[in-house]
Amino acid sequence: MLGVEEARDRILDFFAVLDSRETAVLDSLGQVLAEDITAPLDIPPLDNSAMDGYAVAARSVTGASPDSPVVLRIIGAVAAGELPQERVTPGAAMRIMTGAPIPDGADAVVPFEETDEADRGADLSQIGIRVGVLPGSDVRPAGQDVRRGETVLMAGTTLRPPDVGVISSLGYQRVEVTRRPVVAILSTGDELLEPGDPPAAGKIYDSNSYGVAAAVLKSGGIPRRLGIARDDIESVTVKIREGLSSDLLVTSAGVSKGDYDMVKEVLATHGEIDFWSVRMRPAKPLAFGMLDAGDGRRVPHLGLPGNPVSALVAFEQFGRPAIRKMMGKPPALRPTVQAVLDEPIYNTDGRRVYARAVVTKRNGVYHARLTGHQSSNLLTSMARANALAICPEDVEKRDAGEIVDVQMLDWPEEII
Ligand code: AMP
Ligand code: MG
Repeated sequence: MLGVEEARDRILDFFAVLDSRETAVLDSLGQVLAEDITAPLDIPPLDNSAMDGYAVAARSVTGASPDSPVVLRIIGAVAAGELPQERVTPGAAMRIMTGAPIPDGADAVVPFEETDEADRGADLSQIGIRVGVLPGSDVRPAGQDVRRGETVLMAGTTLRPPDVGVISSLGYQRVEVTRRPVVAILSTGDELLEPGDPPAAGKIYDSNSYGVAAAVLKSGGIPRRLGIARDDIESVTVKIREGLSSDLLVTSAGVSKGDYDMVKEVLATHGEIDFWSVRMRPAKPLAFGMLDAGDGRRVPHLGLPGNPVSALVAFEQFGRPAIRKMMGKPPALRPTVQAVLDEPIYNTDGRRVYARAVVTKRNGVYHARLTGHQSSNLLTSMARANALAICPEDVEKRDAGEIVDVQMLDWPEEII
């Protein structure tokens, strides 16, 4: 049997960072920058006001106080987006709004609250200033945020909402990012029905291709469902060919040892495939290989087990890191924290157990309880879990009260 890390390392070796693509800024969220972003201009472009108030020459209001305000002549007003039309001389002030450029001659802004404007009614020919201010007070200098020519974001940055804002602030509409991988997803099995089909005796609805597609989407990839292949050579062949135009083909079922299965046979004719037993529970059977696309390209293939929980747990450990690597991100797993077990985890056969668990926080400590029976066909037990609690390969039992590693599949705000 292959260790989990060994299997993951072997798989990741076959993946490289994809090429880059110019993308609308908003669509680049979560993708990795493939170029340095350099500022074509200063931000802010001009010295401007941090407050609504009056632009003044600081030296002309020296010593002003509520009891002895300095009265200045108002020579005009300037709003954000306008340019001041007058020069502020000592003894004068210009009404100014937040973001408006500081007029020549002024070097400070006195906020409305520090003036007698509210007491003056309609007469706005003069203004009483009730505080002295230092030069630069409430002035936001040009270039304070970004200097022209500066590298603002480096290639390799994973773009988050503020980065999207920063790129837009520089006037750019499009950026070069590592493209998202297209992941073809195929379910196999004569027992499978497409959701929407009428129920039929002995048949079950295909959940894997939907669950895995959702997991691909959440990992940053673009899922392309190929639907269901029947357990015959013809059907599997057609579907696998359809999947060869993708960056990764993920299949489910038909990879367990001993099975006589079309999937294995067809895959073997398309490239080199290894069938592994991985030292983990669930998801022991796993297939991985490289398929020939026919046009000289080789497409990685990840064969997940058929049981729905196994398929998703294996996707987490092997599929998600591969997608991240293709996107130019560290192929890391979900964050792992330590939690106190509220009930035991049993390990019957020396495999690493990934137990479906609900992690909560009580008195500042993470606790993990299991979501019930751990059979790998019970998909709702995965749906109820927000984490996988781990019992190591060589440990027969992790008891209630022991501290274990838990891999957080979701991190709901309420437990942080
Ligand atoms: P197999 O690997 O073909 O032996 O499948 C193992 C188990 O997973 C069987 O009970 C299958 O019915 C089930 N299974 C396989 N594919 C799917 C699927 N796409 N959706 C739900 N269950 C599946
Ligand atoms: Mg089957």
